[in-house]
Amino acid sequence: MAIAIFFVLHWQASVFFQSFFLHRYGAHRQFEMSPRMERVFHFLTWFTQGSSYLSPRGYAILHRLHHAYSDTAKDPHSPHFYGNVFTMMWATKGRYEAFVRGRETPEAKFDGGYPSFPLIDRLGDQWITRLAFAGGYVAFYVCFATSPWMYLLLPFHFLMGPVHGAIVNWCGHKYGYRNFASDDASKNMLPLDFLTMGELFQNNHHKFGMSPSFAARSWEVDPTYVIMKGLDAIGVIDMTGAQKMRWTPADLVRRVEAPGLAAVAIDPAE
Ligand SMILES: [Zn+2]
Ligand SMILES: [Zn+2]
Repeated sequence: MAIAIFFVLHWQASVFFQSFFLHRYGAHRQFEMSPRMERVFHFLTWFTQGSSYLSPRGYAILHRLHHAYSDTAKDPHSPHFYGNVFTMMWATKGRYEAFVRGRETPEAKFDGGYPSFPLIDRLGDQWITRLAFAGGYVAFYVCFATSPWMYLLLPFHFLMGPVHGAIVNWCGHKYGYRNFASDDASKNMLPLDFLTMGELFQNNHHKFGMSPSFAARSWEVDPTYVIMKGLDAIGVIDMTGAQKMRWTPADLVRRVEAPGLAAVAIDPAE
């Protein structure tokens, strides 16, 4: 039981901070917060991602490239240009490291405007820190695992950030339904995204990139946004100036896909 609780808590906390802090705040600046709260959330992002911590700068540059070039050859992680999810994630890792280690310089328009906390970013990227977190996960399992098979879950803890990235980047542009026509292959996979805290509403998000809410329809639930509304209500974040999704039923995709999508491999059955 302790292992199940730990696994679910680590999974959900890690993907929440990835979605809330790295993605919606760091890469898109969809809402505001004070410099002090920014530090608190930066720390929590590091603490929950632990051994697989992603820096806001590396994440933001890669993600902005993804929006600018979605599902074209210049997209850093389109599932339509890779044979499987592992080759896609390996290439993504290489590109991420190139930006973080300074081997590749991004165009100015993709750089800047992300949260910076040099101490945490330096610490979080060191092997000794990553190994210490991994050691902590192993120690927890040694204390609480009641069956040997449970140790098979450890790799998920070690690689939590990339695991979420793999699910969102692969499935979010391959499987599911579309609400809006767009010139990419983005899809919404789960009407209630319990798996990645709202990140799987890729189609809604690509249509309204600056909206803090990723749910567009009345029956769609974006768990991260539900929490964000609470944080906004108590003044921890400020969503006053945030983009609102404004669309009419005529904007909704029915059976016909947008013409521009013909260039992208899309299963007509979807
Ligand atoms: Zn996307
Ligand atoms: Zn985005």
